[in-house]
Amino acid sequence: MAFTLPPLPYGYEALEPHIDKLTMQIHHDKHHQAYVDNLNKAIAGTENENKSLEELVKHAGTLSAAIRNNGGGHWNHSFFWEILSPNGGGNPTGSVAKAIDDAFGSFEAMQEKFNAAGAGRFGSGWAWLGNVDGKLTICSTPNQDNPLMDVAECKCQPVLGCDVWEHAYYLKYQNKRADYLKAFWNVVNWKKVNELFEKK
Ligand code: MN
Repeated sequence: MAFTLPPLPYGYEALEPHIDKLTMQIHHDKHHQAYVDNLNKAIAGTENENKSLEELVKHAGTLSAAIRNNGGGHWNHSFFWEILSPNGGGNPTGSVAKAIDDAFGSFEAMQEKFNAAGAGRFGSGWAWLGNVDGKLTICSTPNQDNPLMDVAECKCQPVLGCDVWEHAYYLKYQNKRADYLKAFWNVVNWKKVNELFEKK
């Protein structure tokens, strides 16, 4: 069964002014759609055709580059839309708030480490906050890899992630990735992040 593009759970303009409408339109309708289309092309008529997205992502290192890149792209963007919200921002809530304090000392210290991971990613990639047996960790992956992949240097179950590809921010922030990362915190859906943390 072919994969399909999930609808954005809010309007294109909903994350303004932190993430602009045109960026969201192009990012969701063009970039994410292309990952879905190219993933479908890569698996069509092969033994991978009926596997779940999670299964493809977890075994990315044994599959083709097209499946690794586009399967990762589809998983990462589907995740990204969900952890953002027009009613987001503020401080973490629920058990993930305590886990952040336990792992990093404070919310601010976690943000600093997460932003450094995103800013320090050379070229394109992602910054992640993830769960390893109830303990939170921060890491970064290149391209469309993610911490679920067998090839990831840092493995964890993501609870928060930020796309630091230029296509995610260039129209509004140009070369200022650090400003985009700072603005990102205003639209983080902590309710969803906490759900993901509690689900493990
Ligand atoms: Mn992207």
